[in-house]
Amino acid sequence: MPPIEQHFIFRAGWLRASVLGANDGIVSTASLLAGIAASGATREQLLIVGISALIAGAVSMAAGEYISVSSQADMERSDLILEGKELAKNYDKELDELANIYIQRGVSESLAKQVAGQLMEHDALDAHARDELGITQSLSARPFQAAYSSALAFALGAIWPIVFSQLFSPDQVLPGIFVATIVTLMSLGAISAKLGGAPVQRGITRVSLWGTIAMLVTTLIGHFFSGSF
Ligand SMILES: [Zn+2]
Repeated sequence: MPPIEQHFIFRAGWLRASVLGANDGIVSTASLLAGIAASGATREQLLIVGISALIAGAVSMAAGEYISVSSQADMERSDLILEGKELAKNYDKELDELANIYIQRGVSESLAKQVAGQLMEHDALDAHARDELGITQSLSARPFQAAYSSALAFALGAIWPIVFSQLFSPDQVLPGIFVATIVTLMSLGAISAKLGGAPVQRGITRVSLWGTIAMLVTTLIGHFFSGSF
């Protein structure tokens, strides 16, 4: 058998979730810290704010992912129950339905009926789940996994701006957070582009642009309130 090519699409789910989580962690924590630093906060205050932002963000990411993925899983489950009932009640009608799906995709009528018949003999519910509902094993939703992996990704991103906020002296902390965060975002963009098989330059620009804008906005707001700490 010839070697099978590596497909990137199977990485899409976890890659999207973890890049999004890490990017969120970096951007939200860095822009919060930049704003607080611009208002004249001390190193200790930056540390407390940073750690709070990390915990709050990670918990909120986990809750959000859990809710969204589990409601998708609920939907898939009730669809499968519905489909199972239809199959038990109306096997022949379901056979025609599946055959028609293949006919619409360009398979001849006699072959479509043969394929539908054999697939349903093997596993009727699985055949309908895949080709009628588009639910496959590899894509079916796992809420807990989604929750803890996005919380972890957020925390792994958020930790960097916190470290940067402690590395620089008070008069250098604002430009320090800016430059170090942009470099971190560019690396994240490059890594995710490499993993996803996309052009590296585009990945870098996409990820770092929005982070820079977010930090600029919060820095302006922080300057506006400077002296409040
Ligand atoms: Zn069906």
